[in-house]
Amino acid sequence: MDLDGHPRVALGQWPTPLEDCRRLTEALGGPRILVKRDDVNGLGVGGNKLRKAEFLLGKALADGADTVITFGAVQTNHGRQTAAACARLGLRCELVLTKSVPMSGDAYERSGNIVLDDLYGAHVHLCDTPEQTGEVYDRIVADAAAEGRRTATVPVGGSNDVGVLGYVAAAAELRTQLAGTAVDRIVVAVGSAGTAAGLALGIHLLDWPVILDGACISHTTDESMADIRGLAGDTAALMGVTAGDLAHVRLSDDAVGPGYGIPTPRMWEALRLFARTEGITLDPVYSGKAAAALVAAVRGGTIGADETVVFIHTGGLPGLFAYAPELVRSRENQP
Ligand SMILES: *Cc1c(COP(=O)(O)O)cnc(C)c1O
Repeated sequence: MDLDGHPRVALGQWPTPLEDCRRLTEALGGPRILVKRDDVNGLGVGGNKLRKAEFLLGKALADGADTVITFGAVQTNHGRQTAAACARLGLRCELVLTKSVPMSGDAYERSGNIVLDDLYGAHVHLCDTPEQTGEVYDRIVADAAAEGRRTATVPVGGSNDVGVLGYVAAAAELRTQLAGTAVDRIVVAVGSAGTAAGLALGIHLLDWPVILDGACISHTTDESMADIRGLAGDTAALMGVTAGDLAHVRLSDDAVGPGYGIPTPRMWEALRLFARTEGITLDPVYSGKAAAALVAAVRGGTIGADETVVFIHTGGLPGLFAYAPELVRSRENQP
C-alpha cells in the first residue's frame, strides 16, 4: 500500500503505543485485550482526528489555503484537534459548532474541548440550528474571500476520502507493530465513520484476516455501514484500488443508549473498568460506549475467551470534563 503520493504534514508521534492490558484481560475473564493508544499521539491532547488531519491539512497546505473551516458539536474532539493542528501550522482555524446534543450547564458549555478550542486560538462560532450553521459558514467563506484569504473546508469528523487515508495508514502501522501476533478482532467506535472506513480498507488491502467490530455511537448500523462503504469506496478510488466487499466489518448499536452524546450507566461502568484496571481514561461519547459494547460482547459470548482483541482508543479526554457532573452523579448512584 503506497500513500506517498498524497500530501501529508507531520503532526503526531507514530507509532502510537500498543499496550497489552493484563489486568483488564483478567477482569473480563478471558479475551486478551490490547489497547492501541491513539489517544496519546502528541498534539492538542491527542485523539483519532490527528491521523486524518495529517492528510487533510497536508492537502489544504498543498492547495495554498491559509484558513481552515470545520464543523462539529459543541464538544467536538475533531474541532479541538483541528484547532491545535492549525496552531502548529500557522493556519487560521474557524470552528462552526452546532448545539446538537441535549446537554447543558457550565461543564458542557464552558469546559472540556470548547475552552481548548479558544486556547489554541481558533475562532469559535456557536450555532443553535443547522440552518444557522449553513449561514455562518457562508459568511465565513465570504469574509475570507473579501480579505483575500484562501479557505479549505474540512467535513464533520474529518471524514472524507482524504481524511480516511489516515486510518488506512493506521491499519498498516498496527499490523507492523503486532509483529506476527494473531489478532481476531479490532474494536472501534463509529461516529462519522472515517476511522472505521480507513481501518476496513486498510485491513482489506493488507489481506489481513481480522474482524473489524464497530460500535455505532451516533447513527444506526445500516446508516453507519452505508457511510463506511461510501468512504472506503471514495478513498479506494483516490488510491487507485478497490475496496472489496468489506465482509470483515461487523457493526452493533447496542451501546449507544438514548442517543449521541447522552451518557449511559453501562458506559460509566466501562469507563471505570478501564480506569481501575489499567489507568486508561476513556471518554463518555465514543471510546466509553465502544468499551461498553466490548464488555457486553465478552459477557454475551460474542467474543470468545480465547480471542485476542485490539481496542482502538480514539481519545476524547477533554470531553470527560464536559461530563464531570454526570460522572460524579453516576458514582453516587453506584451500589
Ligand atoms: C471522532 C471520534 C470518534 C469517531 O471517529 P469517526 O471517524 O468520526 O467515526 C471516536 N472517538 C473519539 C474520541 C472521537 O473524537
